Amino acid sequence: MTSTLTPHERGPPLMYPATDQARRSALNEAERLRRLSSTDRDLIRLVHEPQFPRWLAQIKATGGCAHPIYLSGQTTIRDAADGTVLHHYDTASEPGGRLAVRCRNRRRSRCEPCSREHAGDTYHLVRSGLHGGKGVSERVQLHPRLLLTLTAPSFGPVHKATTDGRLCRSANAGSNCDHGRSHTCHRRHEEGDPAVGQPLCPDCYDYPGHVLWHAHAGRLWTRFCHTARRRLATRAGIAQTRLGGHLTLSFAKVAEYQRRAAVHFHAVVRLDGPDGPSTPPPAWATPELLAEVLEDAAAAAHVRTAYSPATGERLIAFGPQMDVHAISGTALSGAVTDDAVAAYVAKYVSKSIGDAGGLDRRVTDRDSIELAPVSAHIRALMGTCWRLGALPELTCLNLRAWAHALGFRGHVLTKSRRYSTTYGELRTARAEYRGSLGVVKAKEGGTLRESFWRFVGSGHTAAEAEIASGVARHIECARQLEQQDRELQRSPRVSGEDQ
Ligand SMILES: [Zn+2]
Ligand SMILES: [Zn+2]
Ligand SMILES: [Zn+2]
Repeated sequence: MTSTLTPHERGPPLMYPATDQARRSALNEAERLRRLSSTDRDLIRLVHEPQFPRWLAQIKATGGCAHPIYLSGQTTIRDAADGTVLHHYDTASEPGGRLAVRCRNRRRSRCEPCSREHAGDTYHLVRSGLHGGKGVSERVQLHPRLLLTLTAPSFGPVHKATTDGRLCRSANAGSNCDHGRSHTCHRRHEEGDPAVGQPLCPDCYDYPGHVLWHAHAGRLWTRFCHTARRRLATRAGIAQTRLGGHLTLSFAKVAEYQRRAAVHFHAVVRLDGPDGPSTPPPAWATPELLAEVLEDAAAAAHVRTAYSPATGERLIAFGPQMDVHAISGTALSGAVTDDAVAAYVAKYVSKSIGDAGGLDRRVTDRDSIELAPVSAHIRALMGTCWRLGALPELTCLNLRAWAHALGFRGHVLTKSRRYSTTYGELRTARAEYRGSLGVVKAKEGGTLRESFWRFVGSGHTAAEAEIASGVARHIECARQLEQQDRELQRSPRVSGEDQ
């Protein structure tokens, strides 16, 4: 029977359940609470915090970052002329006296929301260098632009994915290496086959050559750019020192680990006039000439390693597999478009050695290499870094600190100064757009900013992580819906549908 008493007639709630039924229900509730997982109990604690709405607003502002950094401090902006305070922000009034900011990790395996934002920034950074915008002249659309892929040479035969039904390795049938292993493999490997990228004979594989190539790849790229500039000058019949008076060569490049765990580079290369994107390159600087010069420079560029009794003196050069593609503003046959190139490069910046089956964190001892959940091939590469890293003549390569990256210590994305905008400028533009910097319009005479910040912690509790991941999913859904809306608006309407 349901009670017909109004809340007023029932009077104030009793401190202790009076009836047996009420006592049973209270005990059941206590039992239910006891049975809750620690995450659920943490969740109940969190939502009952008086400043929960403000904490949630902070997490929304980080885009649902999976590993936020907490800062404590203050910023004051004053009028430079008379010292009047124009804006003041202090974390004292924030939950826990701290402010959550994004971790900004580019790796998808570490933080999906931040890696998505970083990939988006990379897209705009690369695209503005091809299409103009974000402070870059639109003239760049008319300048010679190419998409270049450079690879490492072979360090020994590895199993290959065979999408066209061919066999993995059918040449050299019947021959064996000195270790008695066959030079052939009559299997067909799918893309996801763990054998793909593993050497046919680990004992024949040149592991020192592989990690030394990685350790010198940055210098090899720099040498390649010098060589390309020198060859451009030679082709134009001008002194190399005067090339800058005629044109500039700009690039944005991204490093990617292939299945054999060797890095290769994808780069957008562009020719501008002497003052960068806003000036046209000379008429002789055609895309065809640029392609020839890049191919020549890739074949010629090399660096030498220091001599070591363990490895000798090695010549470090690019592999013969290279690719040069024209980039077009519109979809033409044989050319890739600006948008496709920007999306292609952006995809790689959120990847890491972890996506290629390696470790995303540094190793500090030999045991962590032995115990790492990686393939035998990657373990051998990391072990080689560790072994060579102890040699005094190779100390400058810092191989032990970069053993997890298999000796490669370059940035994933690098670009020349004049290619386009920077990550910093893109972030500032976004922060101003969202108003999160509390931007104060500069008065005549300017403003003075005083900031004091310190790191006070990072990361989420279990319940905070659940909420942040929900926030990230919500933002991603909204972004996809917005994108679908934009695509619908762009697509031509079918007659009769718009009524
Ligand atoms: Zn993050
Ligand atoms: Zn095979
Ligand atoms: Zn062998």
